[in-house]
Amino acid sequence: MKDIAKKIINILTFTDLPIRNKFILFSSGALFWLIIIAAIGLVSLFEINNKSKHMVDVIVPQERTVNIVIRKLRGANISMHNIVIHHDKDFINANYRRVKGTLSDSRSYLDALLKGGQIADHVRATGQIHKPFSVLPVKDDADRKHIADVIQKIKEIEDIAERILQIKQSPSVTRLKLEEEIFQCDILTRDAVTALSDYAISVGKEWAKFSNMIKTRLVISILLMGVAFLIAFMLSGVFGLLISRALAKPIKAIITQIKALSAGEIDLTKKLDVTSKDELGQLSTEFNKLMDTIEHVTSFKKVIEEDESTEDIYMRLGKIFIDDLGFDNCVIYEASSSKNNMKIVYPPEAEGIELHCKRDIQLDCELCRVKRTGHMVSSADYPNICKYYTEGVNDIHYCIPIMIGGNVGGVVQFVCGKRGVCDIDDIKKKISRAKQYIADAQPVLEAKRLMKTLKESAFKDALTGLYNRRFLEESFENIVAGVLRRGTTLGLLMCDLDFFKQTNDVYGHDVGDMVLREAASNIRKNVRTSDLVIRFGGEEFLVLLIDTKPGDSFVVAEKIRERIEESKVKIAGGFIQKTISIGVSEFPTDTQNFWEAIKFADVALYKAKERGRNKVLKFTIDMWAEDKY
Ligand code: GH3
Ligand code: MG
Ligand code: MG
Repeated sequence: MKDIAKKIINILTFTDLPIRNKFILFSSGALFWLIIIAAIGLVSLFEINNKSKHMVDVIVPQERTVNIVIRKLRGANISMHNIVIHHDKDFINANYRRVKGTLSDSRSYLDALLKGGQIADHVRATGQIHKPFSVLPVKDDADRKHIADVIQKIKEIEDIAERILQIKQSPSVTRLKLEEEIFQCDILTRDAVTALSDYAISVGKEWAKFSNMIKTRLVISILLMGVAFLIAFMLSGVFGLLISRALAKPIKAIITQIKALSAGEIDLTKKLDVTSKDELGQLSTEFNKLMDTIEHVTSFKKVIEEDESTEDIYMRLGKIFIDDLGFDNCVIYEASSSKNNMKIVYPPEAEGIELHCKRDIQLDCELCRVKRTGHMVSSADYPNICKYYTEGVNDIHYCIPIMIGGNVGGVVQFVCGKRGVCDIDDIKKKISRAKQYIADAQPVLEAKRLMKTLKESAFKDALTGLYNRRFLEESFENIVAGVLRRGTTLGLLMCDLDFFKQTNDVYGHDVGDMVLREAASNIRKNVRTSDLVIRFGGEEFLVLLIDTKPGDSFVVAEKIRERIEESKVKIAGGFIQKTISIGVSEFPTDTQNFWEAIKFADVALYKAKERGRNKVLKFTIDMWAEDKY
């Protein structure tokens, strides 16, 4: 129910329409009501105009005509009486002319009332002429009949006037006859005036009716316009409020989120409500996506900062590229400028994967275009850009550098499919997100690499690359615990080059260093990778053989001795051969104390030197029994 109501409100407030359409519809609504109000006004004005025109053009002239005729009839009657009463001939003649003229005017005016025409009235006594006006024919049949009657009566009065004049002119004026005629004339005049007055009253009623109609129309139109205005006002108020709220609400929410974001107080998992499908809805959706990305990136940064090694970070990056960004494949190379090589660090099992670059780049990282230039390579923009890329021209591939400490520390490669088949725009979006992740990972990778190098340099000997004594001190407890837990034997070989001082003295320190490096490498090569070779002193090496069987240490030591004896160190103008003496002890067989086992190996070494050098001697307890130590 609530949903339906919401939907209806959404439709009514054009919530899902684009903002432009919202305003167009809103203005159209306002315009509609404006037109309604204007239409009501116009119709009313038109009607009022019609009515008043009728009053001015029809009613008023008719009433005026009737009044003129009434005035004229009364005037004629007075003149008639003058003719009867007076004896002066001229005076009688003048009155007679006035009667004739006045009655004839009256008739023609009443004729105009029946047929329509101009009324050009004038006052006979003064000669004053009134402004002529038009009169339209009377329509009502009863009124027309009345007017026709009055005309008839006027004609009769005219006849009476004729007769009265004749009587007056005859030598024997009969008083009685005159009185009879004038009496008749009075009756006719009275009847005509009464009839005309009645007609004037009905015209007056018509006038009142029309003026009432105008009044009513005026009131109705004012009311209608008022109601329309009220509706328009209410609707525009309600719609304006709803629309402005619908616009303001998401904008306010976004402002609040942005403020919180800049203050660092935002909960990135909290999303904005998307209430509409218009631009603001889109804005909210995009803002939520942005939040997601920020959340992802910040959590990603946190996670990789806590990762133990660079390998873990590469693994995580690769997984994000495939699982989250949706790339079909991804290969991450780690480049080493000092070793001039690149190795695959993602995917974890590089053996089985299909590689798109020639193997050469792994052996000589400068062959890789990205490693060499530090710029992203995109075959979408430049087909065939990299000659070490093995696939066809139509393959879209991107290689992005991982910059570490100003150098290219790695390369991320994406192969996206064939040109024309894959959606380049989509890939470009993914690439830009991938670049963001790489940019975020770079400082962390740099820090981790630095830490690794620092750790290595702290525990490694710079000349030979072997572990140093400090490493032994840090890690012996773990080594011992492991050997004891597994119940195996730890072989200890204390090795010392014979007459090394001489080498230094004869060939110089640099050659001495070279011999040392060669010896270290020889020892390293002749033990297992799990064994530990430590530069214990200047030209002394301690080898820890992890998990051997009792007696095996001696065999390994003998092998080392032989290899060193055979090995030739090239120097200018020839080569040097050196020998080595090795003392062997075993832990925990010879002693339960690790440091004592080292001491025992040293004792055995001393014995080997004593017995002529280039020898391996296993420690025996009788060697310890001798007093020297
Ligand atoms: P021995 O057969 O008794 O062992 O004779 P030796 O000459 O080897 O005697 P010793 O072990 O006492 O000599 C160690 C020499 O190794 C002394 C020192 O000059 C030299 N040495 C120690 N560290 C280095 C190094 O880092 N480089 C070089 N070139 N020589 C070193
Ligand atoms: Mg020595
Ligand atoms: Mg020596």
